[in-house]
Amino acid sequence: MKRSDLFAQPSHLNRETVSYLVKGTVSLAAAVGFGLALSDLPGTTFSWGFLLILVFATLAAPRLSLTLPRSRFAISFSDAAVFLTFLIYGGPAAVVVAALESLANCLYLRSRGYVFGRMMILTNVSINALSVSAMYFVWLNVPRAPFITPDPGTTQHLIATLGSLALVQFAVSSLLAATFVWIRGGAGFWETWRKDCFSSSMTQIVGAGLAALLFKVIQYGDGITGVIAFLALLIAYLSYRQSINEVNDAILTAETAERSKAEIERERRREAEKYADELAATLEKEEKANAALRKSETDLQHAALYDSLTNLPNRKHFGDRLRVMIDEYKQDPRKTFFVLFLDLRKFKHINDSLGHVLGDKVLMIAAKRFVRMLNSSDMVARIGGDEFAVLLTGISSVGKAQKVARRLLDNISHPFSLSGNQVSIGVNIGIAPCDTEYESPEEVLRDADIAMHYAKEWNSGVAIFTKELRERFLERIRYENDLRQALTRKELAMSYQPLIDIQDGSLMGFEALLRWHHSEIGNIPPNKFIPIAEESGLIVPITVWILEETTRQLAYWQKIDPAFRNLIVSVNISGKHLSNDDLITDVEQAIERSKIDPACLKLEITESAAMENAEHSIAMLKRLKLLGIQLSIDDFGTGYSSLSYLHRLPFDTLKIDRSFVYSVGEKGENSEILQTIISLAKNLKKKVIAEGIETDSQLSLLQNLGCDYGQGYLLARPQTKENMERLLYERRSWLPEENAAEEHEPQGSPACETLPVF
Ligand code: C2E
Ligand code: MG
Ligand code: MG
Repeated sequence: MKRSDLFAQPSHLNRETVSYLVKGTVSLAAAVGFGLALSDLPGTTFSWGFLLILVFATLAAPRLSLTLPRSRFAISFSDAAVFLTFLIYGGPAAVVVAALESLANCLYLRSRGYVFGRMMILTNVSINALSVSAMYFVWLNVPRAPFITPDPGTTQHLIATLGSLALVQFAVSSLLAATFVWIRGGAGFWETWRKDCFSSSMTQIVGAGLAALLFKVIQYGDGITGVIAFLALLIAYLSYRQSINEVNDAILTAETAERSKAEIERERRREAEKYADELAATLEKEEKANAALRKSETDLQHAALYDSLTNLPNRKHFGDRLRVMIDEYKQDPRKTFFVLFLDLRKFKHINDSLGHVLGDKVLMIAAKRFVRMLNSSDMVARIGGDEFAVLLTGISSVGKAQKVARRLLDNISHPFSLSGNQVSIGVNIGIAPCDTEYESPEEVLRDADIAMHYAKEWNSGVAIFTKELRERFLERIRYENDLRQALTRKELAMSYQPLIDIQDGSLMGFEALLRWHHSEIGNIPPNKFIPIAEESGLIVPITVWILEETTRQLAYWQKIDPAFRNLIVSVNISGKHLSNDDLITDVEQAIERSKIDPACLKLEITESAAMENAEHSIAMLKRLKLLGIQLSIDDFGTGYSSLSYLHRLPFDTLKIDRSFVYSVGEKGENSEILQTIISLAKNLKKKVIAEGIETDSQLSLLQNLGCDYGQGYLLARPQTKENMERLLYERRSWLPEENAAEEHEPQGSPACETLPVF
């Protein structure tokens, strides 16, 4: 077996077992040694001297031991007692002293607070007893030089003898101690011996030296020498103890200083670590705050450039890109672009009927569809509530831009279901082609908006901007502004066109027709300004004025002659006003103020206005009917009435649109439609009135078809109130034969039909 194998560290698992085994073996061997020593102890041993040594070794020596500075070992007088006993009383007595002194020492140390378990005490005692037993065994059995003797005569012999004994004892005890330490784990065996046990040789050497000195003093038997030696020893011991204590104190102070320095350093380190932690936390917080700041900055940037609902670029973002395109086009005319202005049709109606939440969803769906249908190089933006704009690039002609617009129009209209509602989106698109005249994005958008406006008005879906459109638009804006002033400037006046019973030629009443005599432009035709009034909402206050004016006028005429008492006035009501609940009160007030019979007031609602929101129209007309007034469906035949709705509308008269009367030829050709409408009215038990009668043949055909009433230039043109009043006095019959002499239009006031007929 190699030395390295022999001293290989026991594995962790069996370390404890080995430790117990070794301890047991050593204890057993020590017990055997101790037993043999006791049995070999000669009777002469028990003397005052032996007792003195024993008492000294067990009681005094532990207390006198000097702990060497920075060492695990102490200079103990017990070794001196053991060696002295060996020299004077022999090996067995030395074994006994060694065992007892070791036991006493352990107990003393334990009483001083050192941790000494029973096993540890047993081990210590065993090591001591065994090492002295081994020393004795070697003494007995190993041949020795003649000068190594139990009774050394000379000092040299004494040194040799005690040196040999100390060596053996040191060898055995240090090896045993190293074995125990080594088994517990850590460094290798020899390393353990060298580091932990070698320095213990000091105690044996000092002990041997002391024993030699005492032995010599005892050998001389001289009391004075003994006392002097004792005193010298005592002084040496005390001074040595003092210096050791001083060294120990100095070490302690140094250690304490070191410890406190270390503690201070630890504290500093702790503080530095704490500071570093705090710094890290502050940095982390700062980093988080910075990140939040950066995020809010990007959010802000995003919010400044994107629409929050659809996430499309907003007006500003669109404008920025468009500005670049305008500049580029100026530099290079090949870099064409087209701007599409898209406005969702009837979005207000969607919002009102489905609510804003679903309205928002419709906008999001529209946005998604637009994006899907366009190239990535194009830009689509939300520039207002239901307004979107598209920037088309890389397109060479307006025709291609129009195609894109048509495609958008077609695809957007696919119906979809939203919270159980079937919704379809319509859109009007205006296209503004690039032009070097453009200086700013606003100008391009404005022109695309104008085109969109006409797409809506013409119901064409798509319209392309032209300069002529802009002029028309500007004119329209001017009309709108002037119309606001028209009432106060007294530029508005009523014209009255007679409504005739074509069967008997009597006057049934008049249709009130609005006239606008613009102070600068002159007469503006109703079909030009009425749509503007409707779109701007001005039609409502104007109609309120018309209702008052016409009912007051009728009341006045009715009083002229009892024959006029049943004359009626027919007032045109726009679809915009019909959707406004205030109409009921407006009508009520007009009747109240004029005090006319409500049945003498007739309201004309065009077929298309009545059908636009049929259910609401039915409800409104029913409420109006409750006021006792009459209702007429105007321009019948042009507005795609559903028969089922027509049946439910509470009207009194059906007014055939003049286009049907106009299309009838001299010989009564194309009269089928007229015939159908008249039959329909009869079936519905309504009166029929035909407008636009211009020829005798038209009149006689209508008479033959059983039409009740007629209105037209043949019978009478629209008249100013003064002319109408004159005619009221003059005319007896309103049919053409009898009035041949009066066929000419009356001349007169600025707002009458002497001016060009529109
Ligand atoms: P409308 O309600 O159908 O009125 C009849 C129109 O036909 C009138 O045109 C009248 O002058 C015209 N007319 C009557 N007989 C003949 C004829 O024999 N031949 C031709 N060619 N035309 C004839 P006007 O006054 O230009 O009014 C046009 C439209 O403007 C009206 O059509 C009506 O829709 C609207 N309008 C006129 N006045 C008012 C008003 O006070 N309020 C509202 N809301 N609309 C009005
Ligand atoms: Mg009318
Ligand atoms: Mg009409």
